[in-house]
Amino acid sequence: MPLAGLEARQITAWFGDHQVLDRVSLSMRAGEVTALIGPSGCGKSTFLRILNRMHELIPSASLAGEVLLDGQDIYDSSRRITQARRQIGMVFQKPNPFPAMSIYDNVVAGLKLTGTSMRRGDKDNLVEECLTKAGLWREVRDRLRQPGGALSGGQQQRLCIARSLAIRPRVLLMDEPCSALDPTSTRVIEETIAELVAEVTIVIVTHNMQQAARVSNRCAFFLAEQGTPGYIVEHGPTDAMFNDPQDPRTSDYVNGRF
Ligand code: ADP
Ligand code: MG
Repeated sequence: MPLAGLEARQITAWFGDHQVLDRVSLSMRAGEVTALIGPSGCGKSTFLRILNRMHELIPSASLAGEVLLDGQDIYDSSRRITQARRQIGMVFQKPNPFPAMSIYDNVVAGLKLTGTSMRRGDKDNLVEECLTKAGLWREVRDRLRQPGGALSGGQQQRLCIARSLAIRPRVLLMDEPCSALDPTSTRVIEETIAELVAEVTIVIVTHNMQQAARVSNRCAFFLAEQGTPGYIVEHGPTDAMFNDPQDPRTSDYVNGRF
């Protein structure tokens, strides 16, 4: 599959009558890591959920705008919601493998959900491939039948990444994937991200400015001021966002003066 870009156009979002995003437009380019930064509560997670149609699972949620994957609107009424989620995977802050399920079965769990059947040998190959890409293969190759819950936090997060990769997503959304991890595990995940981006477009939410600077090609700075809905103050190449921000609020935020 060729790399795919994701484009959000004029995304406005509500929970009930509480507006939480205001006309957010952002191009997340194919083959790049885009980092979403900004204080808590400014709508980064909501935006991420809108990018793979998870937002609509929340009963009070509504939205306006478009999300284009490779130029095609994922909200097009003729497209099924499962199709969007299959192509656009998500990794959460808290690692959430199925704890009692084996490492092997965790990796292939998504195949059942998407109705894909596979021969045993192909499954074995897929498990090795995805665990390798997630940087976990060497650590677990001799214990694939052990439960996912027996792994360390950092390993569990890499297992979740492997599970996402098994359904061959074109985009991987990561919502603060390292916030619950120690610095060593964080570094391993960052290395994994750097390699994965060759084949899957990545959007990552992070509160760690060094991490945003290390892993991303482009950054978008979200802000919600005094009860107003979240919006993007500024976005651009990561280097420019950190070294030559155009808005003083971006400068304050990336330099920790918030
Ligand atoms: P961030 O990820 O930047 O911290 P969120 O997207 O989690 O921000 O939240 C943005 C706003 O939406 C906040 O005001 C939050 O309280 C509100 N919000 C988030 N999820 C829900 C929900 N399920 N129901 C109602 N309000 C929500
Ligand atoms: Mg969040």
